[in-house]
Amino acid sequence: MDVSRRSAFALAGVAAATQAGAITVPIATADATGFEPAPGTAHLKYNENPLGPPPSALQAMALLARSSWYYADDAEERLKAMIGKRLGVPAAQVVLGHGSSEVITSAALAWGKRGTILIPALQFDEPLLYPMAQGLNYRRVAMAPDLGIDLGALARAAAAPDVAMIYLCNPNNPTGMMLPAADLIAFAKALPPRVTLLVDEAYMELADDPAAATMLPLVAAGANIIVTRTFSKLFGMAGLRIGYAVASPANAAELKRHRLTISLNAPGLAAAIAAWDDGTFQAQSRASIIAARRVLQAAVARAGTVALPSQTNFLFVKVADANRFAAAMAQRGILVRGAWTPAWPAWSRVSTGRLADVERYAKALPELVNA
Ligand code: PLP
Repeated sequence: MDVSRRSAFALAGVAAATQAGAITVPIATADATGFEPAPGTAHLKYNENPLGPPPSALQAMALLARSSWYYADDAEERLKAMIGKRLGVPAAQVVLGHGSSEVITSAALAWGKRGTILIPALQFDEPLLYPMAQGLNYRRVAMAPDLGIDLGALARAAAAPDVAMIYLCNPNNPTGMMLPAADLIAFAKALPPRVTLLVDEAYMELADDPAAATMLPLVAAGANIIVTRTFSKLFGMAGLRIGYAVASPANAAELKRHRLTISLNAPGLAAAIAAWDDGTFQAQSRASIIAARRVLQAAVARAGTVALPSQTNFLFVKVADANRFAAAMAQRGILVRGAWTPAWPAWSRVSTGRLADVERYAKALPELVNA
């Protein structure tokens, strides 16, 4: 550690020590209220990742906290270059956001001016709530009978001349299901040129074969596709709010025009820069999520119910009544999702949190599944 780093470290008033590869940052005087669930609560509701942020990111945040008095524009450029280098696009084709939510919101604001946005009926859509409040035109498209995204129905809906964009999540939230890569590629190639495809790959790093399933190669080849990704899931940094889009130069410029200004934070950027090339952590994170998912899948089978085939850090589980089930779980201090919308009253989403919490859910499930 050089002298300037050492002094930044001391000024931040944070002690970090390397112990068997782990960084410990004592926070004896910090009040965790509002930052962590109440003691005794199993928080399995928001698809977070208890392993992160990785030690490399904790160390970077501790060392660089003192530098937070600067605006972080140069750090933004540095992270964009790192992301572009690994993903095979120039930095100018990477758009960072305050979480991937910000870039998805920007896309909806921009493309919403051109026309209608199509969204699968059973899909995460929070980043569209603000554009919806601004009058966004959107249409929901029915799901396939297996609750997968119905590409045929989306293709038919996209033939309407007012459609400007399709927003879909792959893997999808809350189902956890993946579209077959070949089907999605064929679908994307057949879209009318006026329709931009926004593929939200927030969970892609957790999929069985991310390299085969991602739409990034099509973006790099110049397709009219925007891919968004996040540091909130694999990297365990949901509270640090860093995400990004990868897009053609023209689409990237359009996203930037509709982004909030100066929306990124220095600690988040420091953490993302440190973790981006931390392959050891990323492999560990993926393995621990998959292990927790298997515990959940085994519990579902033992409870005599079913879950959709997930390639993410959550399962969509069939229960008698999702709202009653979530309330009964909450009475035991286990927080899971109730009905996603009234249209799917019998499916409850559970996330892979800390293993001890996942085991609490597994133990309670057989008794409460028919609540
Ligand atoms: N996209 C999907 C599919 C999500 O499930 C989530 C959050 O759960 C997000 C995006 C938002 O992620 P971020 O934290 O990057 O804003």
